[in-house]
Amino acid sequence: MQDKQDTKEKSYYIWTVGCQMNVADSNYVAAALQGRGYTEAAEIDAADVVVLNSCVVRQAAEDRIVGKIGEVARLKKNNPNLFLALTGCMVTEDQTTLRRRFPMVDIFFKPSAVTDFLVGLPDNSAPDLGEYGVALALEGLLPTAQAGNIASYIPIIYGCNKTCTYCIVPFRRGKERSRTIEDIAQEVEYLTTQGVREVTLLGQNVDTYGHDLPERTDLAALMERLNDIDDLWRIRFLTSHPKDMAQKLIDAVAALPKAMEHINLPVQSGDDEVIKRMKRRYTLRYYRDLVRRIKETIPGVSMATDIIVGFPGETHDQFMRTMDLLQEVQFDKVHVAAYSPRPGTVAAEWRDDISHDEKMLRLHAVEKLQERIGRDLNSRQVGEEMEVLVESMERGKWSGRTRTNKIIFFSPDSANPIDHTGQLVTVRVAEAGPWSMQGQLVRVIKDAPQPLRELIKARTRRMDITLTPVSPVNSAHS
Ligand code: SAM
Ligand code: SF4
Repeated sequence: MQDKQDTKEKSYYIWTVGCQMNVADSNYVAAALQGRGYTEAAEIDAADVVVLNSCVVRQAAEDRIVGKIGEVARLKKNNPNLFLALTGCMVTEDQTTLRRRFPMVDIFFKPSAVTDFLVGLPDNSAPDLGEYGVALALEGLLPTAQAGNIASYIPIIYGCNKTCTYCIVPFRRGKERSRTIEDIAQEVEYLTTQGVREVTLLGQNVDTYGHDLPERTDLAALMERLNDIDDLWRIRFLTSHPKDMAQKLIDAVAALPKAMEHINLPVQSGDDEVIKRMKRRYTLRYYRDLVRRIKETIPGVSMATDIIVGFPGETHDQFMRTMDLLQEVQFDKVHVAAYSPRPGTVAAEWRDDISHDEKMLRLHAVEKLQERIGRDLNSRQVGEEMEVLVESMERGKWSGRTRTNKIIFFSPDSANPIDHTGQLVTVRVAEAGPWSMQGQLVRVIKDAPQPLRELIKARTRRMDITLTPVSPVNSAHS
């Protein structure tokens, strides 16, 4: 007779903080667990295995993960069998300090080492990598668990070779490692059979994609290959480094029908001296010229950027030059962060001389300016028809994104309620705010095939995710 314990369904809960790369990594972990018979728990306290995916880009993110570890530690008191795993950028090569600091964590694993996690699980057996995972598993990767989503994140390059003086990422994610075009294409093809219609290609610097491969290639070539996948409708990418953005890529975005007209191009500051001390390796003259070429080559392109305020030594005048740049370029979206010293980085050795209050004043000034610019830019779209991929229903309205990555809502037709999930539709913009737009459905361009739509509904997963930097989506991501 089978032991009752053996028949109990095992469940997991993944909590993610940080960037889209962490979201993608969490999807791999979810896939690995599902491959071993685990199902997703609705709540953290109902799970047998809790995975916390951490971010240390800023102190605030680190504080959140420490708080969450404490919360799970309290749950463990009532349920000693609860297995707690910590991954993400908090996990260093040498885990001695982490073990001492967080004895309640059962296993620490680096994001690229999902297999270490599987081997460390309490019911460990040889990891089941699934029919699709063999090639990827050799690289420490696994297929994503994004099946049933309309839009999906695909890591294409891991690590970063830059040495921006404020940034911890290269210390935690290592040197650049690209996946091959065929490996990525195989995964995307597989995901399209599972309902995915849009992919966002991810990397700390996607513009150097393929440069490290034995047969050197680039992002434009990858986009061309993906553009040929029949059931894929949309391709996006994140994040570009201004220094490495090739004209060939800009031309590819303009030429490829499935490439979306949106570029995220972090500038970080509007002052050359600050940019130099950040070791960003470009000048504002170069950056302005790059923006001009992008806008000229890709009609209707929308642009986003990242800004750090209160970098050590940033004077009021230098900050004002950042404000001037934002006013001049008119970005559609700005991700602004207050400088946070990260131990181990070059800038952490410098005096963090801008007070917290001053950093907040600058941050709010950027937010206020951007609110006005965002509203202005979006208002110009009122009356226009936009192509929208419908992702979900939110608070009674259908929600999706335009080709230019703007969030738009439209109301269901109460007389004729249709499920628009996964449809490519045209929406006429009726109202515009700084962060999103409202509109009316005009027509359906392409339908999501019925079986896929059912799959999407059945597999809609609940993942507890808070995106911090560089985020095309706002909060919870399913
Ligand atoms: N690789 C991208 C780039 O070149 O900009 C972005 C990656 S980084 C993880 C995401 C954003 O976090 C950066 O663009 C920067 O604005 C912000 N960031 C990184 N380190 C920071 C720090 N020490 N303090 C405040 N913000 C930081
Ligand atoms: Fe960090 Fe981006 Fe600079 Fe790399 S390029 S060091 S990830 S900010």
